[in-house]
Amino acid sequence: MVMDNAVKPRSDSAIRDEVAKLCARFPGAYWRELDTKRAYPSEFVAALTEAGYLGALIPEQYGGAGLGLAEAAEILETIHAEGCNGAACHAQMYMMGTVLRHGSIAQKEAYLPQIASGALRLQAFGVTEPTSGTDTSSLRTTARLDGDSYVIDGQKIWTSRAEYSDLMMVLARTTPQDQVKKRTDGLSVFIFDMRLVRDKGLTIRPIRTMMNHNSCEVFFDQMRIPADSLVGEEGKGFRYILDGMNAERLLIAAECIGDAKWFTNKSVAYARDRSVFGRPIGQNQGIQFPIARAYAQMRAAELMVQDGCERFAAGLPCGEQANMAKLLAADASWAAAEACVQTHGGFGFAEEYDVERKYRETRLYQVAPISTNLVLSFVAEHVLGLPRSY
Ligand SMILES: Cc1cc2nc3c(=O)[nH]c(=O)nc-3n(C[C@H](O)[C@H](O)[C@H](O)COP(=O)(O)OP(=O)(O)OC[C@H]3O[C@@H](n4cnc5c(N)ncnc54)[C@H](O)[C@@H]3O)c2cc1C
Repeated sequence: MVMDNAVKPRSDSAIRDEVAKLCARFPGAYWRELDTKRAYPSEFVAALTEAGYLGALIPEQYGGAGLGLAEAAEILETIHAEGCNGAACHAQMYMMGTVLRHGSIAQKEAYLPQIASGALRLQAFGVTEPTSGTDTSSLRTTARLDGDSYVIDGQKIWTSRAEYSDLMMVLARTTPQDQVKKRTDGLSVFIFDMRLVRDKGLTIRPIRTMMNHNSCEVFFDQMRIPADSLVGEEGKGFRYILDGMNAERLLIAAECIGDAKWFTNKSVAYARDRSVFGRPIGQNQGIQFPIARAYAQMRAAELMVQDGCERFAAGLPCGEQANMAKLLAADASWAAAEACVQTHGGFGFAEEYDVERKYRETRLYQVAPISTNLVLSFVAEHVLGLPRSY
């Protein structure tokens, strides 16, 4: 079926047009085949890298495009609106921010130009652990300084793209929790070259998931990395990671907006085309209303993403906007996905329509990178001043 673009872009944009052109080279059949094999979209990631999109937020002095968060959001939104998936590489866009803001000059010079050129991939971000889950301050992975090395022990889970990344950024405890004032103190961030320690203390084991996401378990067994892998100061890692989370949430929200647009375009096209009982199914309010409601939700969420990006660019606090954008956009993409499957009836389940694949993919955003409940807790506590619930 030919896509009917019922959803119009909010404004004309050269970035949107260029990204859409690139995405047209990677149609549904490309993603379907990868999905079946749970394979990595290497050609797509290479094309994005070559076009400079993955270095969008890297300043020009380090070889990047020096764009703002709004433009990066536009790139990811368009990727998703065109039926592609940015999850294979989106982390590179925001993870480098930790190095940029808190890394040493040597780290910036060593990594940023190579990330911008695509010579090095920074795709693996190890925070979540099997035992501590969302309670990051309770993570158990430790890093101990020993001469000119740090020795890392522990385990991460759900580390996406670990098999397809050269570098990894990891959060580990450097001071035991009972020796720090705040639970979140004593955690540190490290960036290291995984190629140098693979099978020398570092083991990566892929997890098969309901969608093609290249997520892994990562085990550290006395893994030795150079002492200058530490980013910023020891013990301040949690704060550094938090600094980057607003950008991450806004970019993920943009992906959800893109998904919602894709689902809505698909729904409208099918609802116009499919005739049952002698008239298009889209003439029935039972079909129209869920599509229209999801569309309205998406447009509202889109404004919140824009608000968050503007505040981020202006250096204003944007935790409230970033969290709410993520919540609203994830809800909008899920509502649009539901409406799309329902509109397609039985064909919503047929692989060749791509609806079921995108449906599985967009479900993730209710859980990762932060679950809906935790965003609601953030808003209740930090925005509305209600007592902490956990
Ligand atoms: C495909 C995939 C890719 C991922 N990629 C990465 C990655 O690259 N790097 C990384 O570090 N992590 C990654 N994650 C992990 C992701 O960030 C976590 O799964 C997510 O934050 C939820 O943590 P959890 O799975 O441990 O759930 P838990 O913390 O065990 O929570 C389970 C459920 O309980 C709810 N819950 C927990 N505590 C509360 C509370 N106090 N109040 C109300 N509800 C609560 C949660 O909302 C959730 O619904 C990924 C996950 C997936 C599935």
